[in-house]
Amino acid sequence: MTDCLFCKIAAGTIPVTPIFEDDRVIAFADINPQAPTHFLVIPREHFADVTQVPAELLGHLLHAAARVAETQLPHGHRIAINTGPDGGQTVQHVHLHVLGGRPMGWPPG
Ligand code: IMP
Repeated sequence: MTDCLFCKIAAGTIPVTPIFEDDRVIAFADINPQAPTHFLVIPREHFADVTQVPAELLGHLLHAAARVAETQLPHGHRIAINTGPDGGQTVQHVHLHVLGGRPMGWPPG
């Protein structure tokens, strides 16, 4: 989608420093980190939210997030997918948040 922020990041129109990338996904630091380590994993293809993502791609996104987290966050991490207004989603291109570097509270806000 031409007016989608994360499509522009995926296409390289808006430059980011990839933490990880392959032909289907890209991971990069969140611009407004909520933890000492906070990165996003997105598919290159546009899907508005997690309910729209095919199972195989969703597995690949989660696998990529876990592999990077395993390397960068040896003490643990949290993976979150905000979905819709009640879920706190602000960018309408599905993305996994990976947070770590401090103890996470529960329940989340
Ligand atoms: P959401 O609120 O779950 O949709 O998360 C959207 C995330 O995208 C927020 O954590 C924002 O800080 C992050 N974000 C917005 N614009 C950019 C950007 O240009 N680069 C990196 N992260 C961004």
